[in-house]
Amino acid sequence: MFKNILAPVQAWLLVKGQCVGCGMPLAKARREDVKGQKELKVTCRCGRVYMFDQESKKYRRALIQEV
Ligand SMILES: [Zn+2]
Repeated sequence: MFKNILAPVQAWLLVKGQCVGCGMPLAKARREDVKGQKELKVTCRCGRVYMFDQESKKYRRALIQEV
């Protein structure tokens, strides 16, 4: 039940460009280029890793193999 509520909240935070774990604006997080990918790897201070699409300006959670 709780998980069903959490997922939309996390998606909403990501749309706003905030970390789903600590709420920090991801604009302040560390960004790195990823070889062979258009997306930037964004590492939050809490250790969560996201991918930032520079064209659509959207964040998504990084896949396990991207971390
Ligand atoms: Zn965080």
